[in-house]
Amino acid sequence: MRYSGLKVIKEALTGHKGWKPVWRDPDPKPDYDIVIIGAGGHGLATAHYLAKVFGERRVAVIEKGWLGGGNVGRNTTIIRSNYLLDGNEPFYEFSLKLWEGLEQDLNYNAMVSQRGILNLFHNDPQRDAATRRGNAMRLNGADAELLDTDGVRALYPFLNFDDARFPIRGGLLQRRGGTVRHDAVAWGYARAADSRGVDIIQNCEVTGFRIENGKCLGVETSRGFIGAKKVGACVAGSSGRLMAKAGMRLPIESHVLQAFVSEGLKPVLPGVVTYGAGHFYVSQSDKGGLVFGGDLDGYNSYAQRGNLPTVEDVAEGGMSLMPIIGRARLLRMWGGIMDMSMDGSPIIDRTDIEGLYFNGGWCYGGFKATPASGYAYAHLLATGTPHETARAYRFDRFRRGYMIDEKGMGAQPNLH
Ligand SMILES: Cc1cc2nc3c(=O)[nH]c(=O)nc-3n(C[C@H](O)[C@H](O)[C@H](O)COP(=O)(O)OP(=O)(O)OC[C@H]3O[C@@H](n4cnc5c(N)ncnc54)[C@H](O)[C@@H]3O)c2cc1C
Repeated sequence: MRYSGLKVIKEALTGHKGWKPVWRDPDPKPDYDIVIIGAGGHGLATAHYLAKVFGERRVAVIEKGWLGGGNVGRNTTIIRSNYLLDGNEPFYEFSLKLWEGLEQDLNYNAMVSQRGILNLFHNDPQRDAATRRGNAMRLNGADAELLDTDGVRALYPFLNFDDARFPIRGGLLQRRGGTVRHDAVAWGYARAADSRGVDIIQNCEVTGFRIENGKCLGVETSRGFIGAKKVGACVAGSSGRLMAKAGMRLPIESHVLQAFVSEGLKPVLPGVVTYGAGHFYVSQSDKGGLVFGGDLDGYNSYAQRGNLPTVEDVAEGGMSLMPIIGRARLLRMWGGIMDMSMDGSPIIDRTDIEGLYFNGGWCYGGFKATPASGYAYAHLLATGTPHETARAYRFDRFRRGYMIDEKGMGAQPNLH
């Protein structure tokens, strides 16, 4: 089913009775050419590009719960390509370009909104760092503008500029950054992949790998064995637990990240703003809620719920940046499990087990990476070679010392 304006009008006039489920609910086949584990954004995007760009026809995505129930439906929906390091910036810029054409590619309204992202700075060293990052972005073809205090004030007059412990001195603006409706990304990729014959199998947990003579022959699941020539793990926060079933210990720790949404308000925030003196970022959803988040809970966990001290910390960050937030009531909050890598950057690579591939380590920046991650993983699975923008995302960088430490934090996953 293709969507069109005429179809929407027809359905509106006839009680919306003509809409059909947009993906099938197939039983698993005995075997596939490629099995992807995890129907999050990255797994579904991988399946879409495998089918569309690389012509793979026998592909399955296996999901232990329901499609989109993981981090892809839990994040704060921010997209951007404002990275500094060579290993990262071309990849995230590639991703932003794919976001820009996503709705046409999928024929699905993912509410891609390039409303701009502004990273505030509060002192001279931060201004220097923002200038350097903006220059690196521009060298890689991305857009970046350095704003002084007046420039920020023109966009966000209600921020706490001077009467604050950390007065606002300016910000680095990427106008092409913004937000995307996260559920719609999962649904759009699922529909597109399904329409090209990909089997999306929900309520099917991978419980183990069948590995013989160093080769992966398929996956054991709660619905029986499924054979595969290639298996691609793509389970974000569950990466450590899943890969342990293949005998692997990853350079990844899992931590909880929480997000919050206020009651619906009239339009107040034109774009995405991040605080430079604490961990706080905020945007306004199209429904009117202020969507915001902060730091990790700081201890290892596989629970999808967070703790109260972090709630207090995030609220304090919000109050110090934009005191008007104190008038809004908090409507909902939730948590997701983050796959925090040792250098804060992801891994898209084959493993030492033949036929077994890995995609993970997205930390809390994986939503914006969804299209490029899917494309690069599909490239690796289909051709056996890394995509040009993802060459740095290899396992052996930790052994060889080629870290992609965007924040310069060292091997401290909870600080990236
Ligand atoms: C609160 C919060 C805010 C965030 N904000 C942002 C943001 O603003 N911008 C940004 O870029 N990123 C953000 N992120 C990060 C981003 O959401 C993640 O990095 C990204 O979604 C991870 O990739 P995914 O979508 O494939 O993961 P998921 O959606 O988690 O997909 C993994 C899937 O694997 C399934 N699975 C796990 N184990 C198994 C198994 N054994 N068998 C079968 N299936 C299995 C899970 O059920 C899940 O559906 C945020 C994350 C959170 C939690």
